[in-house]
Amino acid sequence: MSHLSEWLETRIENTKKAGLYRELRTMNMAPEPEMFIDGWKQIVFSSNNYLGLANDERLLGEANKALLDFGVGSSGSRLTTGNTEWHERLEEKIASFKQTESALLFSNGYLANVGVLSSLPEKGDVLLSDQLNHASIIDGCRLSKAKTIIYDHCDLSDLEVKLKETERYHRRFIVTDGVFSMDGTIAPLDKIISLAKRYHAYVIVDDAHATGVLGENGKGTSEYFGVSPDIVIGTLSKAVGTEGGFVAGSKALIDFLLNHARTFIFQTAIPPASCAASFAALEVMEHSKEKRNLLFSHVKKIQASLKQMGYNVKGEITPIIPVIIGDAEKAVKFAEGLQAKGIYASAIRPPTVAKGESRIRLTITTDHDSKEIDYLVEVFNLIGKELNLIK
Ligand code: PMP
Repeated sequence: MSHLSEWLETRIENTKKAGLYRELRTMNMAPEPEMFIDGWKQIVFSSNNYLGLANDERLLGEANKALLDFGVGSSGSRLTTGNTEWHERLEEKIASFKQTESALLFSNGYLANVGVLSSLPEKGDVLLSDQLNHASIIDGCRLSKAKTIIYDHCDLSDLEVKLKETERYHRRFIVTDGVFSMDGTIAPLDKIISLAKRYHAYVIVDDAHATGVLGENGKGTSEYFGVSPDIVIGTLSKAVGTEGGFVAGSKALIDFLLNHARTFIFQTAIPPASCAASFAALEVMEHSKEKRNLLFSHVKKIQASLKQMGYNVKGEITPIIPVIIGDAEKAVKFAEGLQAKGIYASAIRPPTVAKGESRIRLTITTDHDSKEIDYLVEVFNLIGKELNLIK
């Protein structure tokens, strides 16, 4: 064995010893609540397909038509040969959905965050970033020439202290997830924006988990709070059901990013067929209030039942329900117990969450029915007792 392989094997052994080893699972079909995973039938409580759109006939139909017209790939970056009318139509749609002047597509949400954060704040600026922000925000901050300061999770007084401490910096940007991916908390965007106005800072919100879900028409945290952040970043890979990332904001912002965001300039455009599917999804989403209400009633039912059993359930009314187990190995055992009973939900462990905060992260979709929800609750009762987590 080469030195490199030996060294890597030792590192993997250490990961295994720490209970942090990860493996891929194979989904044997299109996303549905009930799926074959590695050949086993499981009810999935781990998908981001919150509104069940990933396999929706209307999206498939539009994607199919565009596929025949434009082929399977875009074959170039947007600034060379990859730009089609579908990219432009989708950007216009996103801007109108997010009620901004303009929007720009990226390959995914990860690269949208990295693109904005690595290009916009400059040396002499400061980025105030929530402690629990997504990895793509953390990586964007790392690539930025601005200084990054972390504030306590959704803690407005800590944010204000840090705004006061950074008055000597040139520009200040507050960056936050709209809905936090591992905790299911909703950022108090109205209060963050008030603080930002008082201290002359700009607000960037990553609305990955709120798009399609929060607000009267599913437009996200801005609609939920009735506010307008300076920059909205998002992904099409969750409630929208497709793929791609976007930034929505002023015309000047979009023009700047088109010229300066390296993850926009140097990446191949997403396939036109994917844009066509996203366009159809956004049209559907604006008229999905009943679906959203169904989603929230599922969430409330599960949260109440698990809390009553004695579980430590985090989060607000979002499709993400984190159930804290604590120890990483116990969380893995719990997930294995769920799988043995036909339920697929991920055990989330460090470094994704803090040590001692390992959890089962449930996500709920509108495609789950009440029988599946009741079964989930029943199995949580069973496994919690088996592992001495509840009485
Ligand atoms: N931001 C947040 C909050 C996320 O949860 C995710 C996806 N896990 C992303 C950004 C990245 O989006 P994408 O999957 O489109 O790269």
